[in-house]
Amino acid sequence: MINETNQEKLRIPVGISSCLLGERVRYDGGHKGHSYIMRTLDEYFDFKPFCPEVTIGLGIPRKPIRLWRNENKEIRCVGVSDTSLDFTERLKNCGDAQYDWHKQLCGYILKKDSPSCGMERVKIWDDVMPKREGIGVYADKLMTNFPYLPVEEEGRLGDAILRENFIQRVFAMHRWFLLTSDSLSVGSLGEFHARHKLILMSHDQTSYRELGQLVARTTKESLLEDSKKYLLGFMKALKKTATRRNHVNVLQHIQGYLKVSLDSDDKKELVRTIENYRKGQLPLIVPITLLNHFFRKHPNAYISKSWYMKPYPEELMLQNSI
Ligand code: SF4
Repeated sequence: MINETNQEKLRIPVGISSCLLGERVRYDGGHKGHSYIMRTLDEYFDFKPFCPEVTIGLGIPRKPIRLWRNENKEIRCVGVSDTSLDFTERLKNCGDAQYDWHKQLCGYILKKDSPSCGMERVKIWDDVMPKREGIGVYADKLMTNFPYLPVEEEGRLGDAILRENFIQRVFAMHRWFLLTSDSLSVGSLGEFHARHKLILMSHDQTSYRELGQLVARTTKESLLEDSKKYLLGFMKALKKTATRRNHVNVLQHIQGYLKVSLDSDDKKELVRTIENYRKGQLPLIVPITLLNHFFRKHPNAYISKSWYMKPYPEELMLQNSI
């Protein structure tokens, strides 16, 4: 059974480009230690550092490499000073060779702009001008092998909405791991969906409905196949950032569960708080805190189990900035 206590006690396995943890593995012998990752996320995530370039034997220091569009329009990962040195296949094979430990991860933080680790917008060079439209070779393998895996770059973690979105997905992925390691059944899949309904509503209403239909028609016989489809659809939906408008819909939906229990002053306070959040005058944490306060006085079984009310440890303070 997944609950708030065991969710917060366990450090979650998350892969990471080694240089972001301060390891001196870059081509110039330096690192790109990231303070938020090392000081804050490290408390919750059990980081698994990995440097593909060192693993394929390029050494430290080493000559830099980059993505190159060759005369056949193929994208290759080659030496900056010598394009005949081609590391593409070695990096691809390196990505595949990590499959067994990759499949145990609930997320991955990649180093931006790297021809090996970059998640998106990596420069592709040619004879004219570099274009920011590439993906690091190792990162590409990782994301192709595990399309549901929450992946983010350290540069984007500086954005409050993207940071919250990534961490939300990692915690959700971890709850999925706990669910599937604990013998998945039609009933437990249904419960997982029920507890994530409000989160899904805040990200993508269409996926919320489609995933609900998938769960409703799942049988013992189709469970294995349907659970794979569910995970893909679920993580794809969560990847869409939750909008303020969707959050307002969810908050008003939750408010409905207090219709008969609140007196008129409390109702007005709640309506005003949600409205001020809608106008951008308050962060999400304020209506959530008020709702949690009211539900402590007037408990509701469905809401108390919903992960929307406490998707990750509050000490991360992610809802204070969105
Ligand atoms: S970006 Fe990736 S390949 Fe480059 S130093 Fe960091 S971990 Fe190694």
